[in-house]
Amino acid sequence: MSESAIKELYQKIGICPQVYDYGKHIEDQLKERFQKLEETAEYNQLKVLHAMQKNRVSEACFYPSTGYGYNDVGRETLEQVYADIFHTQAALVRPQITCGTHALAVALFGNLRPGDELLSPVGRPYDTLEEVIGIRSQKGSLAEYGVTYRQADLKENGTFDYPAIEQALTPKTRLVTIQRSKGYQTRPSFSVAQIGELIAFIKKRRPDVICMVDNCYGEFVDILEPSDAGADLMAGSLIKNPGGGLAPIGGYIVGKKELVEQAACRMTCPGLGKEVGASLDVKQSFYQGLFLAPTVVKGALKGAIYAAALYESLGYPVLPGSQEPRQDIIQAVTLGTPEKVIAFCQGIQAAAPVDSYVVPEPWDMPGYDSPVIMAAGAFVSGSSIELSADAPIRPPYAVYFQGGLTWEHAKAGILMSLEKLTEAGLVQL
Ligand SMILES: *Cc1c(COP(=O)(O)O)cnc(C)c1O
Repeated sequence: MSESAIKELYQKIGICPQVYDYGKHIEDQLKERFQKLEETAEYNQLKVLHAMQKNRVSEACFYPSTGYGYNDVGRETLEQVYADIFHTQAALVRPQITCGTHALAVALFGNLRPGDELLSPVGRPYDTLEEVIGIRSQKGSLAEYGVTYRQADLKENGTFDYPAIEQALTPKTRLVTIQRSKGYQTRPSFSVAQIGELIAFIKKRRPDVICMVDNCYGEFVDILEPSDAGADLMAGSLIKNPGGGLAPIGGYIVGKKELVEQAACRMTCPGLGKEVGASLDVKQSFYQGLFLAPTVVKGALKGAIYAAALYESLGYPVLPGSQEPRQDIIQAVTLGTPEKVIAFCQGIQAAAPVDSYVVPEPWDMPGYDSPVIMAAGAFVSGSSIELSADAPIRPPYAVYFQGGLTWEHAKAGILMSLEKLTEAGLVQL
């Protein structure tokens, strides 16, 4: 195929030849980097396939359940598949878990009791968890139930402050929560090895403390998961990596049997635990999305690296850098002004398959403490394994870009963000 044919199509969706050429020159430098991602995806694809075969996934697993959802074999099999993939004793994988925040909240509320203390050894947690914990006061927070919170901040260079963590571990500490991905922060995300080291440090001093990991955006980025490195409990969202773009809702919690059961008693209620919860007709999408997830994550990672390389070449600070190892699918680009952040997000939106004609604007989103602009023209509302960009409108005016169900689409989105920035005269090529 001639390059002019593809350039013409790019032009039809609004990307000019100059922007295309700029992107092409960036992409040409990334071949080796992309090859490594193929290897990770291959490993993870086999891991998922093996877990599905081992658990004898069959067509009957996809049949809907209704009402109480007792004896939902498809649900129970899927939970065993998750447990096998993450190498844990148990799993909860449910449409009743509404999002990642909910999964984390269920895991926390299920395993903490009045008088216990929760510790974050990695600085402030994800914005929405501040209200779950009660860092920002909210009805029904852990603080209202008498669970206290302590935090050890990261060092200036983004690494763990071990003396501060040691000091923050008190006799009251019951659970330590470690967020793998940076979320909306400009700190680095942690590797599984780093998380393993931190957990070993904590366990050495307090073997009885529960180590939980917020694994949102981290699934299938590496061949190992935090649960392979000592995490007792882990949670995430199905409209991010493990849903593979097909799960229309849901969250998961994996870990030690006892801890997952405690979470189940919070997710439904004491006594019923994981025995109830009809799956309606979502199971096929959960299975099929999980099956596709390693490949989808690979595409999203290619997009993230491409965005990093492209904006780095234009002189913007990016996190992680285009040459750095990846721990999650999020790419932060510090654009430095609200106008650039808004133009970037409007470009991502304009490249979407759904709602491409909509122009996103910043708004006061529940759970966040500054206005947020979100670009997402997704098949599943709010899905951030699909091509999306979010930015809190606050200094340093960084935009967080993630997802893309295919690498080709991620690439088009990034080119479109550059197109909007150049059209507005905010960036010169
Ligand atoms: C997305 C995310 C959450 C919250 O998930 P929601 O599904 O948006 O509620 C929590 N922690 C991290 C690190 C995340 O990326």
